[in-house]
Amino acid sequence: MNSAISYIIDFLLGDQKPVKHNCRIGYTSDPQLFHQYNLVIVASSFFNEQVYGTPLSMPELPLKEIKGVPLLFGEAETTWHEDTLVVYADIIASAYFLLTRYEEIRRRDVRDEHGRFPGKESLPYRAGFIHRPIVDEYGKLLCGWLREAGVSITEPAPHIRKIWLTHDVDAPFYCRSLRNAVRETLKGKGIKNALRLLKQPLEEDPYYTFPWLIEQDNKVINRLGKKRSNALYFLKTGGKSVHDKPHYNLRMPDGASLLGLLQSRQVVVGLHSSYDAGKNPLFIEKERELLGRISKQKIRHNRHHYLAGREPEDFVLLERAGITDDFTMGYPDVAGFRLGTSRPVRWINPANKHVSSLILHPLTMMDVALSETKYMSLSYDEAFDYCLCLISRVEQANGEVVMLWHNDTVSELQTRNGAVKWHRDLYAALTDELKKR
Ligand SMILES: [Zn+2]
Repeated sequence: MNSAISYIIDFLLGDQKPVKHNCRIGYTSDPQLFHQYNLVIVASSFFNEQVYGTPLSMPELPLKEIKGVPLLFGEAETTWHEDTLVVYADIIASAYFLLTRYEEIRRRDVRDEHGRFPGKESLPYRAGFIHRPIVDEYGKLLCGWLREAGVSITEPAPHIRKIWLTHDVDAPFYCRSLRNAVRETLKGKGIKNALRLLKQPLEEDPYYTFPWLIEQDNKVINRLGKKRSNALYFLKTGGKSVHDKPHYNLRMPDGASLLGLLQSRQVVVGLHSSYDAGKNPLFIEKERELLGRISKQKIRHNRHHYLAGREPEDFVLLERAGITDDFTMGYPDVAGFRLGTSRPVRWINPANKHVSSLILHPLTMMDVALSETKYMSLSYDEAFDYCLCLISRVEQANGEVVMLWHNDTVSELQTRNGAVKWHRDLYAALTDELKKR
């Protein structure tokens, strides 16, 4: 059995591994081999050399379902072959397709203006299950089949394994330079007002909402403990493109104060790799090194600015740059389960099926994905209900909740690109909810 397939079987079972389960679960289409196993998942043609990487490998809509779970490959049938339970639903290829973003290497021509694969083009969205971590649901099916086949296996009670409270620092300050003051003046806000903004202490800058975010996050962390919850700030050190503006310098007094504040509160600091680095991942290493030098910390966590990690294979360079954990894997235009799972998963390269050591932490929800007109365009109530639905799905799957809220969207100014006014309230309501879980 190749390593990607055995990794996927392990991953589906999660903590519920029976002893030597690989001897008991077979993945084959050869009936001669069925008797060797308690349970056989019959391999569809997906991994066949003549099929893999060709148009034949793409699932067709509408999808079949097995026990209410959408199935990408195989048939919704089970049967007995003497003492062996034989399942024709190819949940291994289905999970592989979702976990590896296989669809994105087959559809290279489908990208948005930032080079990203749009969530609304994805199979999970088009097939109506983006709000369900169906790979985790496959895991539950697999455990059920193993039990049916006489293998003793227990499942843990639903709980959220970890909550990551994460913040991308795109624009830490609103008006801290002469250039900012000129911008305010040109906006017609008056030079007096601009100078007032410029002269006020850093703590009063409208985008400097970090003390408030730290306070919200600590409510969760103090209740659940650091093992189950972490605050994580992604900081930028590179990028020259217009999409990387505003540029800020963590060595200048304001940047140093911000870094000092974050470090004094012992939050995790990660790299917010630039828009430019999304285009050319070779830049990631330099940006990581610089952040490490400035912060005097080993930087292991990454999230791409604009969530603009582009091609699946780009993760090779992320890993080579020394990143061990990436938090980019959500769609910018729709919140939900981009990889089909709510659990941290090793990155598998769909180009060569290699299982890497890089851990992907699927993003559960992002402030602007919920609200922006061109994305989900939800009202406060709709966004709150949708987020609660996602949180419950994570809980059922014993997964991680990864929240992404920006410091500027919770600003009292709320000026970000037509941003709505409720991001701050929603964050407070959701963190309130999470600390009860
Ligand atoms: Zn960003």
